[in-house]
Amino acid sequence: MTERNVPLLDLRAQYRSLKPELDAAVMRVAESQRFILGDEVAAFEKEIAEYLEVPYALGVSSGTDALLLSLMALGVGPGDEVIVPTLSFFATAGVVSRLHATPVFVDIDPVSFNIDPGVLEQAITSRTRAVIPVHLFGQAADMKAIMEIAQAHDLHVVEDAAQAIGVRCGDGRFAGTIGTTGCFSFFPSKNLGCFGDGGLVITRDPGLYHRMKIMRVHGGEPKYYHKIIGGNFRLDALQAAVLRVKLPRLEDWSRRRRENAHNYNRLFIEAGLAEEPGRTTFDERNAVLLPKEIHADAQPGLYHIYNQYSIRVEKRDKVMQYLRERNVGCEIYYPVPFHRQECFADIPSAGGSFPVADEVARTILSIPVYPEMTKDMQRYVVETIAEAVHA
Ligand SMILES: *Cc1c(COP(=O)(O)O)cnc(C)c1O
Repeated sequence: MTERNVPLLDLRAQYRSLKPELDAAVMRVAESQRFILGDEVAAFEKEIAEYLEVPYALGVSSGTDALLLSLMALGVGPGDEVIVPTLSFFATAGVVSRLHATPVFVDIDPVSFNIDPGVLEQAITSRTRAVIPVHLFGQAADMKAIMEIAQAHDLHVVEDAAQAIGVRCGDGRFAGTIGTTGCFSFFPSKNLGCFGDGGLVITRDPGLYHRMKIMRVHGGEPKYYHKIIGGNFRLDALQAAVLRVKLPRLEDWSRRRRENAHNYNRLFIEAGLAEEPGRTTFDERNAVLLPKEIHADAQPGLYHIYNQYSIRVEKRDKVMQYLRERNVGCEIYYPVPFHRQECFADIPSAGGSFPVADEVARTILSIPVYPEMTKDMQRYVVETIAEAVHA
């Protein structure tokens, strides 16, 4: 097997393919010397709102701030409870605690890795104000079931779509466009990444949009007159200019990620490491558990955009060691569920039992799936994993 170098993500390859346009966009902002909001941000907001088929989009400073601003604008605060899946990036729960509200952890589904609607309803109390479903790894949570429960209990739904821009839910609508707000991140490792930090919050509610827009600039309206308290949650003009170049390429990149994912599935099955996607238990013929596209058979569309292609392996430490020694990037998303985080030790729900999240955290492993990677590289990755499993 020829040695190769396969990073988890190759941002330079993407930059090379768009360099003249990206450099021109950055220079355009430099020439204008207009760095804060202005035409670039407004134009990007219009373009991405059209793409996502929503009336309102607000560029913000990060995905974390999109979540924080949503909860602030909805008035979530002390005494309130917000339900979150216990396995996600830290921000999903962190923003709740920062507002002195209480995150309530619930378990995830073993196939989709998303919040399990079956346990969501049991977590609702008279204090519950909102739920934050996460579209983890780029596959939509079960929004139909979640919205039914939320509506029955009068809860806000703040969608954490940080890893899921451009993915469709079962009914064909975009993830992030169904709840009260949808929150996106343009962190460089997301499918649509900028040159630093950036984020977006979308909504269909004009009142909420205007409130968030004012809160994005400290809550002053008019400037220096404050009825409400906000923060500095602005997207930079430079980032907006970069994102305007990349947005038209997003679907193509997501399609290539999907092709890579499907190719991986085939390679793992051919190598005798797995029988089919979506298995949840290990045995001799399933040393590797493959991710499954829940709506693969629905109408044509992007039902998983593979921000991460995440397999599960029993001997994870060994597999990671083999991959790293052979120059293949890999990462654990996420090694510690919220209920086991030290900072949440005093949260009442942290004492609960979350067997699926625990088992997923023990075995999950994300491997390279970026659009520019070659079939050869994928073969090398699967061969390396096979070696580790059989060692
Ligand atoms: C990346 C991410 C965030 C936070 O986005 P930032 O832009 O890094 O603040 C929130 N939730 C999830 C699930 C993420 O993957």
